[in-house]
Amino acid sequence: MSVVATYSILGDWVRIVGGEHVTVTTLVGPGGDAHTYEPTPRDSVALHRAALVFENGIGFEAWLEKLFVASRSAAIRVVVTRKITSRNLISSSGQEEIDPHVWHCPRNAEAMVREIADALAARDPVHAADYLGRADDYIRKLNTLDAWIGEQIATIPESRRHLVTTHDTFGYFSDRYGFEVSSVMGSVSSESTDPAASDLAEVIDRIRAAQVPAVFTENIINPRLTEQVAREASVSIVPSLYTDALGPPGSKGATYLELMRFNVRTMTEALR
Ligand SMILES: [Zn+2]
Repeated sequence: MSVVATYSILGDWVRIVGGEHVTVTTLVGPGGDAHTYEPTPRDSVALHRAALVFENGIGFEAWLEKLFVASRSAAIRVVVTRKITSRNLISSSGQEEIDPHVWHCPRNAEAMVREIADALAARDPVHAADYLGRADDYIRKLNTLDAWIGEQIATIPESRRHLVTTHDTFGYFSDRYGFEVSSVMGSVSSESTDPAASDLAEVIDRIRAAQVPAVFTENIINPRLTEQVAREASVSIVPSLYTDALGPPGSKGATYLELMRFNVRTMTEALR
């Protein structure tokens, strides 16, 4: 069975749950930015051939609707965040935005993996037990991960639990583990073109006032702007976190479980 996953983190889960019964095509690959993605003709072919399309929804893949229609795909679309309560955020330009970055909380990951298993089992009932069993195995790993993250974060003094990143990607993570978050772009999307100088000055002031120990760049966005802000605020810059996409095969963020452990280790070392 051919299936599509819109971005690499989701593709990781579909591969794990689907196992040998599915062939997964991921549209936005490792290191790719789904907010600003420009689809290719190959994506259209993959959608056309797919039996199922797994998508994040809540505004993450703004380009998908048009691409799906144009591909004349007959695939069933599975919005894996269907049962997750989304959070909203007011951007620095004053707009209310829905935050799509649910995957940074392992509890949400569990809900998404269940959706994947249920959809595969419904489409391919002969192998239902395989899909559901593999999802159960993986969810046990997510529970271990969640407990481990809690232990790591507990080693960071509360006053230093402040994540400054390029765009607002760690909202669900912060809700789960008790962080304050700020971003250089002041938006849940990485799409906003260069922020105004006055906005940047405000971000720099805020970072100085909060005395954050470090700011973080991201694997999906050019680090230039964030590096500039860090320099001007006299704050150290830390190895880039894996935010909206996996890292390439062989990297420390090649799978979701590795990505989460790398991010948490990096945060803990930088903020503790
Ligand atoms: Zn994002």
